[in-house]
Amino acid sequence: MSDIDTPRRPGPWDPRPEDVRAPAPPAHGPARPVDGALDKGQHPLWALVSTLLLGGLIYYWSGSLVIVAAVLFGLLVHEYGHVLAMNRLGMGPARIYIVPFLGGLAKGQRMPASEWYGVLVALAGPAFGLLAAIPFFGAYLWTGQTIWLGGVLAIAFINLINLAPAPPLDGSKALGPVLARIHPMVEKVALLAVGGLAVAWGVSNGSWLFAGFLAFALFGHLRRGAWRPEGRRLTWGEAAKSTVLFVLTVAACVGVGLAALLPGLDTVSEGLTHGARLFEFGR
Ligand SMILES: [Zn+2]
Repeated sequence: MSDIDTPRRPGPWDPRPEDVRAPAPPAHGPARPVDGALDKGQHPLWALVSTLLLGGLIYYWSGSLVIVAAVLFGLLVHEYGHVLAMNRLGMGPARIYIVPFLGGLAKGQRMPASEWYGVLVALAGPAFGLLAAIPFFGAYLWTGQTIWLGGVLAIAFINLINLAPAPPLDGSKALGPVLARIHPMVEKVALLAVGGLAVAWGVSNGSWLFAGFLAFALFGHLRRGAWRPEGRRLTWGEAAKSTVLFVLTVAACVGVGLAALLPGLDTVSEGLTHGARLFEFGR
């Protein structure tokens, strides 16, 4: 997931004008030197404690150190994807925060200059995050032990679930602007409906932590007056590109997940059924 809600003044770490294709909204004002407002990031000790807490919870669920390693490494690479995109699109220097028990968060120093940039930042996490599966797939090919494929599956799963269009997951940030392009109310209703379903799904699975987290995020979205504070709206062309990129990223996640499942299964449809069953995770 990424947090790009914090508006900040641009500084000298901003991209040069020739690097920016879309003009920044005038509210950002002229570039000014770094002041005390620059986000210093998470304290290393707190990051370590948060990581240990998260790792402990995953070990409690999975009982496998490979899965713990896959989830932690997968989260880090996922967040780093957001960071790369943020830095590239003039929102840096972005930082990664580890949230105890829940996962990670990439935070830019300011909002994207356009909704299109927001979409790119949102999708960069899951797309780049899939690269984390490479060493685990390599370890499987090297050793032949299927537990490494479990790591690949976990990484595919993390990125896929982040693409669910429920606030505050990446999927809502990628598809929300597209829906808002149709009508702002469409986005609001659709995201709240999907968010409500996701909460209900979490509760029905007994994934209380996940459900509570989503419910809290939904509540935050409802309370916030300005639904979409980012800069320039999507054009129709960008809305189409956003949709295509979203579908491609979902397909890539499903593909990596299937690649992890297929060696033990006979058919693709069996793999899909097995994969769907895994969505009852945590219980
Ligand atoms: Zn993300």
